Amino acid sequence: MRVALLGFFALFLSQFFVAAARASDPVRAVRIWPSQDYTRITLESRQPIRHSLLVVKNPERIVLDLQDVEYASVQQEIADKVLTSDPYIANLRAGRYMPGVVRLVLDLKQEVKPQIFLLKPVGEYGHRLVLDLYPVEPIDPLMALLDKPEPRAEARPAPTPGPVEAKTEPSTKQSPVPVAELLKATPAEKPRTDVTRLVTIALDAGHGGEDPGARGRGGSREKHVTLTIARKLKTIVDAEPNMRAVLTRDGDYYLALRTRVEKARRVKADLFVSIHADAFVRPHARGSSVFALSERGATSAAARWLAKRENEADLIGGVNLDVKDRYLAQTLLDLSQTATIQDSLKLARA
Ligand SMILES: [Zn+2]
Repeated sequence: MRVALLGFFALFLSQFFVAAARASDPVRAVRIWPSQDYTRITLESRQPIRHSLLVVKNPERIVLDLQDVEYASVQQEIADKVLTSDPYIANLRAGRYMPGVVRLVLDLKQEVKPQIFLLKPVGEYGHRLVLDLYPVEPIDPLMALLDKPEPRAEARPAPTPGPVEAKTEPSTKQSPVPVAELLKATPAEKPRTDVTRLVTIALDAGHGGEDPGARGRGGSREKHVTLTIARKLKTIVDAEPNMRAVLTRDGDYYLALRTRVEKARRVKADLFVSIHADAFVRPHARGSSVFALSERGATSAAARWLAKRENEADLIGGVNLDVKDRYLAQTLLDLSQTATIQDSLKLARA
């Protein structure tokens, strides 16, 4: 009897300590990645965080209850994390809701569609609880592109723009040109305004947000390097009268690989350029890597090594697996894929 009682007491004690240990489990880090596409909040911890989410109206708020996490660590980690430029979050605060439950309240700037999911430890990360806040009306990359003024030759500034030149320009343009003169003109002499079709180039800065990509020896992150290159390339491409560039991401946030391709397809891109500054197995490797969609897998061991690395980016960058199938089905339906692969390989060899 005494043994049984002792056993029970020991069991009770161990349960108590397990509960106490759980209650003091600190949140390792809170990271916020704001963007127009969506804002992501990541809570990283040693154990998966049990949670419940509540959407509250008037005013728009999201209430996220976290079980068995240390309040002080949450309070410390969320301080000064919300940027005023965040399109969706106005403020983030934490409170002790009830014993063992920390309540996070997100004051929103607009109504959102939240997605919440857990990610298992990968790379340097522990368990992650991810909350993505999407706009109710998804941002359409095509509409975003059309909202911008078309790059026209007329809109291009003169080499030495001066007020006098700017005033005289319209009168020269309106001066009548004899039809015979126009007919004689060779294609090379045609004014640049004759561009009938714009070549659209999707520039994809690799990695971003939770996924830093490769690390340079000086501490540089691949995700920042790729974005800098993409922005510079965009300026160069947009300066061409018959070309325009679209960035898949223009900020420090993660986009799933399928979303990047999806965005390029939506703007009917003629070319998809994925920019990477990879750390290869040999530190002295030079050159760039070009990826083409492949049906039968990578064409060489080196390409396979790189492709595997890039596919692992989704694991590190964090993708909600619940919505994956929809995109996969769409991609498989795209019958023009084979043609795209052929063209991509041709370009890569050029
Ligand atoms: Zn990369």
